[in-house]
Amino acid sequence: MVIELVKKILSQNNNEIQLFKAESHLRRGSFKIPSYQKDTKIILFIGVFHGDEPEGEPLILKLMNEVDKDPELIKNNQILFIPVLNPDGKAFNTRGNANGIDLNRNFPTKNWELSAIKDEFYSGESFASEVETKFLIEILDEFRPDAIITLHTPYRIVNFDGPAKELAHEISKFNDYPVQENIGYSTPGSFGTYAGIERNIPVITLELPDKTNIDTLWEENKEAFIYIVSL
Ligand SMILES: [Zn+2]
Repeated sequence: MVIELVKKILSQNNNEIQLFKAESHLRRGSFKIPSYQKDTKIILFIGVFHGDEPEGEPLILKLMNEVDKDPELIKNNQILFIPVLNPDGKAFNTRGNANGIDLNRNFPTKNWELSAIKDEFYSGESFASEVETKFLIEILDEFRPDAIITLHTPYRIVNFDGPAKELAHEISKFNDYPVQENIGYSTPGSFGTYAGIERNIPVITLELPDKTNIDTLWEENKEAFIYIVSL
């Protein structure tokens, strides 16, 4: 097993946004199994969409470590990891990026709208204006993931968009967080709407409880993560 850094870009403030890929040794070298083989799934994990929700990064790093130790876990799958999508927001401890834009309102969806005010949910002047948004769209175009897991806080629910209801319920069996399809407020330009509803990719928005230490979050979610990478 090799986990490789396969793509990176620089944020506005010159922080690297990195994409790592893990693939089974069975797929390496001259016996590479083509990605269209039906038992190969491509699964993307994304952490720190919102800079003030840092929990996703250490959890993704723990999962990467787990997969590296035990490559059999991922079967013939390819697992993609973006530990930190929004490094500038993480540095400032803000929801938005360096431009004060909520990336989760910046995707080119049919329901995208310009925010009336520049608060912490600010959409940006136009959709896909941000490097982080463009980077993620490029990754979807290039790798065509079969499922996507994004890590947020603080609601302690398994939220989903697109054809992910079954997967959400499976995850809920492991971590005991309730499944909730609708988060209760409108989210124009969200990633879930873009990738899940409009591109028909199963998208899980795993909302972790806040004010919880990483070891506890890892214990609560480890089995669900291992289940997902072995889909
Ligand atoms: Zn969030």
